Amino acid sequence: MANPSLLILPGDGIGPEVMAEVRKVIGWLGTQGVFFDVEEGLIGGASYDVHGVPLSDGTLERAQAVDAVLLGAVGAPKYAGVDYALRPEAGLLKIRKEMDLYANLRPAQCFEALADFSSLKREVVSGLDIMIVRELTSGIYFGEPRGIQDDNQGGRVGINTQRYTTAEIRRVARSAFEMARRRNNRVCSMEKSNVMESGILWREEVQWVHDHEYPDVELSHMYADNGAMQLVRNPRQFDVIVTDNLFGDLLSDAAAMLTGSLGMLPSASLGAPMANGRPKALYEPVHGSAPDIAGQGKANPIATILSFAMALRYSFDLGDHATRLEQAVERVLADGHRTADLMGVEGGTPLSTSQMGDAIVAALAR
Ligand code: NAD
Repeated sequence: MANPSLLILPGDGIGPEVMAEVRKVIGWLGTQGVFFDVEEGLIGGASYDVHGVPLSDGTLERAQAVDAVLLGAVGAPKYAGVDYALRPEAGLLKIRKEMDLYANLRPAQCFEALADFSSLKREVVSGLDIMIVRELTSGIYFGEPRGIQDDNQGGRVGINTQRYTTAEIRRVARSAFEMARRRNNRVCSMEKSNVMESGILWREEVQWVHDHEYPDVELSHMYADNGAMQLVRNPRQFDVIVTDNLFGDLLSDAAAMLTGSLGMLPSASLGAPMANGRPKALYEPVHGSAPDIAGQGKANPIATILSFAMALRYSFDLGDHATRLEQAVERVLADGHRTADLMGVEGGTPLSTSQMGDAIVAALAR
């Protein structure tokens, strides 16, 4: 059988630095008999410098063809004056759109050794492991009509439209139910059906998918404002949360902060199943290119390494290896290893990006 294929797009800023550490993990997997066909490409400012565009047709074609894409980050201050359509960030928006990645997965997982980093009490977040599935390609950020118009009374009116179709809701609901089956088998769907028609449709369609296709998964519904409260009151009550683009944007950011540093947060964006049954997939850390620390060996590579762990689990059916990698991260943190962003008030000497990667590979080998 052919090796699974992976396209690595390091991007800008700390992107190449953190990606080098993932390469070490891939190298270690090779020693265990797990091989990938890895190609590398340009995105963001790195692509603009060479091709004059932040995402070339050739790179996009490769992204559509491989089993999974792993992306670092894009953006740098030197592109601030470039036309919006050619800025590094436009490359990221384009690849997500062209691959039609409609399900954005954001885990919020609390590593025991970092529980004190959370803005919540240790006893509330300790052991936390939830997954937020956010609809990414529709809803109020895309709905028409939109714009700013004269209101004909001397003022203006700003318009955005929340719009969802049956097909859009059902496909992201399926992603959430599939996810739940690989986890603790529970989905909580969040909307505001008390005040929004699109919320009524959302609730009904998620329920339909459950009843017809996933009756084995436990489904509950919650108003999104209550969901926000529950996330900070008792986040461990959730397993998988599925919600629309706007609510998901807010709820996933709030959930992320339950666990501490931006340098620890992975994500995945999934699309429709390909001919081989695997979903189209792009994995990336939540953080950006961090120009303030780029090139200094200070970046925490864990968010990108955990994004790769998600790829192992959700694209390559290598769940055991994903767990092993996550446990290696857990062990390294428990041993007290920290990059600069994870240094507490007690101080000490932080590990460099490369040293953290080495420590994780050493823990894998242990
Ligand atoms: P950022 O995430 O790059 O940085 C925010 C802060 O977190 C900075 O202080 C940074 O040093 C720190 N940080 C981020 N990742 C870290 C890591 N792995 N280890 C240690 N510290 C880390 O967000 P920003 O400063 O708002 O944006 C910088 C650039 O990145 C901009 O050009 C922006 O458009 C872009 N951006 C890209 C993405 C992406 O590629 N997905 C996401 C957000 C921002």
